[in-house]
Amino acid sequence: MPKSSPKIYGVLGYPAKHSLSPDMHNAAFQYLKIEAEYRIFEKEPAELDSFFGGLAENNICGLNVTIPYKEEVLKYLAWQSPEVRFTAASNTIIVKEKGYLEGWNTDGIGFHRHLVQDLGFEIAGKKAVLLGAGGASKAIIDQLARNKIREISIYDIDKQRAAALAKKTNDAFKVSKATALDSLSSLDFSDTQLLINATPIGMKLEDPLLVSREKMHSGLLVYDLIYNPAETNLLKEAKAAGAKVANGLGMLLYQGARSFELWTDKIAPIEIMRNALEKGAKGL
Ligand code: NAP
Repeated sequence: MPKSSPKIYGVLGYPAKHSLSPDMHNAAFQYLKIEAEYRIFEKEPAELDSFFGGLAENNICGLNVTIPYKEEVLKYLAWQSPEVRFTAASNTIIVKEKGYLEGWNTDGIGFHRHLVQDLGFEIAGKKAVLLGAGGASKAIIDQLARNKIREISIYDIDKQRAAALAKKTNDAFKVSKATALDSLSSLDFSDTQLLINATPIGMKLEDPLLVSREKMHSGLLVYDLIYNPAETNLLKEAKAAGAKVANGLGMLLYQGARSFELWTDKIAPIEIMRNALEKGAKGL
């Protein structure tokens, strides 16, 4: 590869063609006059070995990883960040010299920065309910526990997954108490300050509502990781109950900003990336 060719970055997933990541990263590269290009790598499972084998040859210097490969890519990594070790998933890869791959997970950091910096939520001492115990939930609970949340209740349709995540959290962090819930129906939210939806429920209009309006209140922040639609039924109902609401676009922005900083060693131009992302999201 000639030295003058731009550095290549991109998102690996399947499907991945509707990703908004190229919008924000290419806007940031242009703004900072970095000779680099961010692409979409939509690969089938059978193509992964040859894709990873060809990274250096194709001048690929960094990757984001999305559904369904965040866990699968671990086998290609030479080094894993503490967040990757806790979540057993990586969404950011740095390609070092001689094809040495470092794996990071910026999802939790992205969530934390949006929650604390933009939404002004103080985590320490609070009580949260987390819907879902999958990849994103693990990244989120890792950050909430590191930042001393008092109590967190986890609900997943797969009860064993919720129980395993609660146990992992209690084993790793002493300050926070995690509990797996068998059902949401009898749960009282009056002493809960944060409700997070980290399930895909809400992406479709006909999806069920996991928490009813009567359970939500003005002392609650309802954070839905979904950003398409921009306002899920859960967020609509939360608003009607007087709760504060946020969708997942801010998390997407800040996880991308952290990936950008890991790849380039430069401070991410947040407002440039935010504008590109918001523009892209309008076209979804
Ligand atoms: P995941 O690993 O598949 O986890 C989702 C979990 O929710 C699974 O354990 C799933 O169980 C469970 N679930 C499904 N339906 C449920 C229901 N009715 N009640 C309770 N639990 C249910 O997915 P993920 O990667 O964590 O992503 C979760 C959501 O977050 C997706 O919508 C994704 O797009 C979004 N996300 C957003 C960002 C962002 O930057 N904004 C980043 C990452 C993820 P089953 O597997 O048994 O269905």
